[in-house]
Amino acid sequence: MERAVALVVAAGRGERFGGARPKQYETLAGRPLLHHGLAAFAGHPAIAGVRAVIHPDDRALYESAAEGLALLDPVPGGANRQDSARLGLESLEELAPERVLIHDGARPLLPAEVIDRVLQALDRTRGAVAALPVTDTLKREHDGMIADTVARQGLWRAQTPQGFHYPAILAAHRAAAGAELTDDAAVAERAGLPVALVEGSPRNLKVTTPEDLARAEAILTGAGGGAQETRSASGFDVHRFGPGDHVNLCGLRIPHDRALLGHSDADVALHALTDALLGALGAGDIGLHFPPTDPRWRGADSAVFLRNANERVAARGGRIVNVDVTVICEAPKLAPHRAHMVARLAELLDLAPERVNVKATTTEGLGFTGRGEGIAAQASATLCLPRRG
Ligand code: MG
Repeated sequence: MERAVALVVAAGRGERFGGARPKQYETLAGRPLLHHGLAAFAGHPAIAGVRAVIHPDDRALYESAAEGLALLDPVPGGANRQDSARLGLESLEELAPERVLIHDGARPLLPAEVIDRVLQALDRTRGAVAALPVTDTLKREHDGMIADTVARQGLWRAQTPQGFHYPAILAAHRAAAGAELTDDAAVAERAGLPVALVEGSPRNLKVTTPEDLARAEAILTGAGGGAQETRSASGFDVHRFGPGDHVNLCGLRIPHDRALLGHSDADVALHALTDALLGALGAGDIGLHFPPTDPRWRGADSAVFLRNANERVAARGGRIVNVDVTVICEAPKLAPHRAHMVARLAELLDLAPERVNVKATTTEGLGFTGRGEGIAAQASATLCLPRRG
């Protein structure tokens, strides 16, 4: 394992937040917000050291955020985010790390898997950024009216950590000093460094407003300081067989002598599960959010639909208690794939595998599934959500 160091940039003043102190020191689940991001790196086995970049006025606030954590000494930041990142990188020179992960101190809920994914990508490229695909429709505004709908295909929302080979990003930052770029990936791009996109997490939200802080609190404590309620719903879907050599089920490609037909990749199990999650949220169904008339979803990887539903759960401050999927068909035989299906769903939902169940059954030769005309799937999902109203 190459030696990797984390640089947590937390020197901002957080004017948009409007609190009595910079937002990274507001209280989240009983500790300063910054503590949580620092702890995510300090507790990760592949991270050799963690350094924060702070505002010189915040030393006392930082000490309380760092309490109980083994960290490198903090260094003072600069006039803006880019300067602060560069100063932090300069300060690491004496440690000569091979890799550095730069993280925004206002992102407190960083899953270890996201750190893993960024580090793994750095085995094959010099830059890698955690990000999520854009799923909302994007509009350009002019004078309060919609001027244009922006094609979102290929668009991602960049998160942090953003990881790089250390000498390359240090040189890129030195060359870009004064350029006012919005993230470190932009600094790397400017220097011509290749930067990969890796899957971030809906949990990994950036706290910009007091509402974001409340959401983070709800996610972290699972309580949100208020009453919780349990909600469940089911989903059902059918796709018919046509010519082909594989079917997509639970996000896996399974060889078969026919394929399922559909506008997207026809993953009937992911469709049923997406509908179960949307149902439990009271958020309609998959067709409402991803209309089959929309050419954007032709051949789409249905994982996008499931992740979007999962993101909606996180946005409500909720969490998934468990999901259960039943796939109904005579063939292909699914028993050999069951464990992989569970693992794939757990990965897509950022969930422990013990909270995911997949079953397969036949209809004893009866009906359309019995005649081998198609595959049906049903799913149920149980959520824990902060009570509203
Ligand atoms: Mg469907």
